[in-house]
Amino acid sequence: MSELRELYQSVILDHNKKPRNFGALPGASHQADGHNPLCGDKIRVYVELAGETIEDIRFEGEGCAISTASASLMTQAVKGRTVAEAEALFGRFHSLVTSDSTREADIDGIGKLAVFAGVREFPVRVKCATLAWHTLRNALEGRAQTARTE
Ligand code: ZN
Repeated sequence: MSELRELYQSVILDHNKKPRNFGALPGASHQADGHNPLCGDKIRVYVELAGETIEDIRFEGEGCAISTASASLMTQAVKGRTVAEAEALFGRFHSLVTSDSTREADIDGIGKLAVFAGVREFPVRVKCATLAWHTLRNALEGRAQTARTE
């Protein structure tokens, strides 16, 4: 288990150091801002939709390692997927990071997002890990207001 934990940590550190799909996406069809006041994480998510498909997605902002890595991994996970698939993935990710830590999480089909299973033990960190996803949802729903974890 501790080897798995170390692997998870190294993935998170790598994505924090070198976030994927980082930067603005000029002319994006959808965008939204997110803010996690508890930790100070701020993020902006840009989405280019082609029909129902997330053709491109980028993000920018400043935050802790968990929030940055989560945003980075999220962009990789949903790029090329449909809006409905992204929603479903958010549902699974959300239950992964919030489910009872005494139970084995259902990580089928969520790929690298499994690295966040450990945040279940730290409720404050759950907000860091889910901020990008809440912001993505707002962007897709075309909501102008800032997504807040509180
Ligand atoms: Zn944070």
